[in-house]
Amino acid sequence: AGVVAPAPIRRLEEAVVNRIAAGEVIQRPASALKELLENSLDAGATSIGITVKDGGVKLIQIVDNGHGIRYEDLPLLCERHTTSKLREFEDLETISTLGFRGEALASITFVAHLSVTTMTEGQAHGYKATYKDGQMEGDARPCAAVKGTQITVENLFYNVAARRKAFKNLSEEYGRILDVVSRYAVHKTGVSFSCKKHGDSRADVHTVGSSSRTDTIRAVYGPGVARELIAISASEDDPSGTTFKMDGLISSANYSSKRSIMVLFINDRLVECGALRKAIELVYATILPKASKPFIYMSINLPPEHVDVNVHPTKREVSFLNQESLVDIIQQAVEAKLLESNNSRTFSTQT
Ligand code: ADP
Ligand code: MG
Repeated sequence: AGVVAPAPIRRLEEAVVNRIAAGEVIQRPASALKELLENSLDAGATSIGITVKDGGVKLIQIVDNGHGIRYEDLPLLCERHTTSKLREFEDLETISTLGFRGEALASITFVAHLSVTTMTEGQAHGYKATYKDGQMEGDARPCAAVKGTQITVENLFYNVAARRKAFKNLSEEYGRILDVVSRYAVHKTGVSFSCKKHGDSRADVHTVGSSSRTDTIRAVYGPGVARELIAISASEDDPSGTTFKMDGLISSANYSSKRSIMVLFINDRLVECGALRKAIELVYATILPKASKPFIYMSINLPPEHVDVNVHPTKREVSFLNQESLVDIIQQAVEAKLLESNNSRTFSTQT
């Protein structure tokens, strides 16, 4: 084999760089939806409606009643690294919003067509603007609106042929979207969510902000789960203040399912934690073999400095300080709850 001469190193065009970066943040329709949903929650919305066509590839539309976007901010809205949420790097330690890096909307505009209609409190009318490759196209135009924001994303990956072709099973993509909405709906009681296919009159997920968490779980995951939930909590106190607090709802011995579901929020962020999931499933498998595929909802609060929020937007797996001991404490709490409920069940069926 001969020696290959090195190819010259060239600087990529900005448009190419942006499209590559965008494909990393927005991997599929559900990742776009998650970013839009988190923006609506960050805007203080109490009602969020989603409409989806062709698994989100053709259309994702989200309507919220949040605080809206100021007219003067519309030109910056979809530029990369523009945000109303973060100023200094140090703010990351205490940040309470879900977003902060100002990358999501920009990314979407590099791989899809995006338009926004928005109105802030006390305005006589709203504005509509469309965006492409990070830039607003023309001027924002006045239009009739109500307070809040509507964002429409069309033809996702229209300019990334390989990615577009990867989404053959559109109902599976829709399923992933429903999964994100369902999880947020369970955690964010106080917010009404709906998600439906374009053209359908009936929503596939529909929750009411005034409902209890158990009622929300019933609406989303069905009455079979909702009727078998046990409340659980655990916390650890430290002389310097509470180190952690966990509240949740877990399925009882009477619940059996083909697959387990774990809805986990840490400091109000939707995450996955394989170590915690395994530890809990082990408890079920050991003491309730017939109910070994549980439903678990857990919300864990840790001091913000114990969790690094600055992981890649698509990396849902988290790790945190003192993870091992925390997983231990939660595992013991689950075990105690299950034994307690199992004993009372045996007792009540015997009498
Ligand atoms: P980030 O959420 O990290 O700030 P995004 O690209 O997701 O970045 O959004 C950019 C900015 O657009 C946000 O900081 C916010 O000011 C504004 N924004 C986006 N979506 C909404 C919305 N639904 N309601 C109000 N403001 C929004
Ligand atoms: Mg965001």
